[in-house]
Amino acid sequence: MIYGGIEAGGTKWVCGIGDGHGELLESETFPTTTPEETIALAAQFFRNGRALGGVGVGSFGPIDVHRASPTWGQITTTPKPGWARTNVVAALRSALDVPVALDTDVNASALAELRWGAAVALKTFCYITVGTGIGGGAMVNGEVLHGLLHPEIGHMRIPHDQARDPFDGACPYHGDCLEGLASGEAIRQRWGRPGQELADKAEVWKLESEYLALGLMNVICTLSPQRIIIGGGVPKQSSLLPLVRHRLRELLAGYFDAPDLKQAGAIDRYVVPPTLGDRAGVLGAIELARSAAQHREP
Ligand code: ZN
Repeated sequence: MIYGGIEAGGTKWVCGIGDGHGELLESETFPTTTPEETIALAAQFFRNGRALGGVGVGSFGPIDVHRASPTWGQITTTPKPGWARTNVVAALRSALDVPVALDTDVNASALAELRWGAAVALKTFCYITVGTGIGGGAMVNGEVLHGLLHPEIGHMRIPHDQARDPFDGACPYHGDCLEGLASGEAIRQRWGRPGQELADKAEVWKLESEYLALGLMNVICTLSPQRIIIGGGVPKQSSLLPLVRHRLRELLAGYFDAPDLKQAGAIDRYVVPPTLGDRAGVLGAIELARSAAQHREP
């Protein structure tokens, strides 16, 4: 059986087909425009003469992930124009007539890294993406973490020293939350240029690593993950993760009595990039579909 997966991002949708073993048989990427147009392009890709066992969607959020909820499948309070209250599950189900599974893009990526990537054999870990926005998903005791809604790691509050960084923050809801201070969009607004054009500006990455390390420290304090995987476009700046690890060790201050955090060099294996790279999201979405189909079978 083959399955479809969509990494539904705010700027692009990556659609792929796979057999659920961590390989992409085919994939295509569409820009995220209006819901109608984007969903229609995805449906056309999947409809192309194949029998799918289901489609999984790893979506930008916030989304309603609770199957019992009347609004299950909706992208809820997103500030992205035109997308608030779009029900991606209902739209895809009616276009394709197959079961549709849904989770956050970061939970889908976490699932893929658990199966085939940097988190194989771990029970509790986080997947954080630092791109246009910041999102975080988590597996806790072997289960994808939901709850009241789903984790919103990007919107945690962190200390913001206005004297060092007078930028008010880019989050339309909270201003200077973690995403507001450290997302790719925050970098672009603060420095007037996107991160890719600021590679040689040491102060940019020093500040960025300060905010990300503060965010990771909060995650370590609350979820006690066995590893933290950091994906997305911003960490492709090669100086960033080493700075984050260094600052994180300083902030942890020797309090956390775990070899992964204390031994020299061990933190390099604790804060890591995704093994699956940019394919984690779409592979995870395919895995959402496969695992939902498996649970339906008697
Ligand atoms: Zn926010």
